[in-house]
Amino acid sequence: MTVMEEYHERVKKLLPGGVHYNFNLPWEESPIHFQNGKNSRVWDMDGKEYLDLYARFGAMIVGHGNKEYTDSLKEVLDRVLFVSHCDLDAEALEAIHQYVPSAEMIRFGVSGTEVVQNAIRIARAYTGRNRFVRFYNHYHGNADNIMGGHSTDRENPVPTEYKGDTKGTEGRAAGILEEQSYLIEWNEPELLEDLLKRHGEEIAAIIMEPVCVNGGSIMPKPGYLQTVRDLCNEYGVVLIFDEIITGFRMGIGGAQAEFGVLPDLTTLGKAIAGGGLPVGAVAGKKEIMNLLTEKRVVHAGTFNGYPLGTAAVKTTIEILSRDNGRAYETMKVQAKKIHEIMRKTAKEEDFPLIVQGPPLCSSFHCCERELMKASEYSPQIQMKDVILNAALQKNGILISSISRIYPNITLSSKDTAWFQERVGEAIREAKLLIQELYE
Ligand code: PMP
Repeated sequence: MTVMEEYHERVKKLLPGGVHYNFNLPWEESPIHFQNGKNSRVWDMDGKEYLDLYARFGAMIVGHGNKEYTDSLKEVLDRVLFVSHCDLDAEALEAIHQYVPSAEMIRFGVSGTEVVQNAIRIARAYTGRNRFVRFYNHYHGNADNIMGGHSTDRENPVPTEYKGDTKGTEGRAAGILEEQSYLIEWNEPELLEDLLKRHGEEIAAIIMEPVCVNGGSIMPKPGYLQTVRDLCNEYGVVLIFDEIITGFRMGIGGAQAEFGVLPDLTTLGKAIAGGGLPVGAVAGKKEIMNLLTEKRVVHAGTFNGYPLGTAAVKTTIEILSRDNGRAYETMKVQAKKIHEIMRKTAKEEDFPLIVQGPPLCSSFHCCERELMKASEYSPQIQMKDVILNAALQKNGILISSISRIYPNITLSSKDTAWFQERVGEAIREAKLLIQELYE
């Protein structure tokens, strides 16, 4: 056993499954214990080096050991560890307000799961309605009312648990899936319109990832987001963009700035605080957010607005916005190189592979054509993606689940060269295994 394997045995005795995180997936997350990180590289306890395109589910955007970032945190650590309001609030809030077009007012929280629930509560209070609409393969956190399920009745698409659901769980509050949401396919405007015609009056909110990153980095069809916006206006429904990934990965302004479609409420998380600390935020129109000002809606949390997190947000935005967002431009150039290398190598190896989605939150898929909707992302494609992900990891390249590629601002030509040297072997290994399993 290696040092790390032995260490993991110790951990496993106390940590269920030996992991900090689990879904009901037919594969295991391999537990690598990391010891060091620098820029885009990380080293495990056995000293093995990896290129980190996992970025802890996309959160890590400033790069490991970013001195400006860590110095700003240390300065706060030494000065004001924990108080209710600190002298960084205005700067962090103003920075979000400046860049996220619909963020007229903002409240901080900690996790993405939590701020999504806050947003739904606010939307319910604002509309006086209960149900929300969500979409297949969009992920909005680990809460009973919003994870998994499927619906079979087009006229009344109420989600229910089903066997084999990777987001299905025992212990869910009885009836919560059925009572709180409607679940339909995304990127299908007629389906949504049909639903609103039938049930518009009971719907408080529509929540979506404006680019469906969790469903395989699927882009919205041209005009789709605007159609949803128009339908929300027509039916008095609060539009929530869950920009917890896209927020700082399509630019600081998120997908809303990119597509020019503004939601009523936005949830932010992950990379908003650079990657080292947890910060979530719910932002939105003043008229709606004022429900909090008026205390009609409760929003609480011990760590809301904690100084270290607030400093992390402030510094992250400073780093990302500097020189007209130069960090994004560089990151995009390097990310696109990774994509091209991957596509080219797969072609040379005669291995079906596509890379899709925005450059900083893209996904690869082991199939011939770009995925356009959730139903196209079959369990077989997912399994093949996982196989390639595992092969990449074996060869020193970490990719987020299932097949998401998350660069950080330090990704360099040396890193893309490292990628190029290893990706061919990973593809060959994956190809062999896939042939054994499926052909
Ligand atoms: N929304 C989206 C779009 C996410 O990707 C995630 C996390 N994967 C969440 C919400 C939940 O965030 P957290 O894991 O911080 O609770």
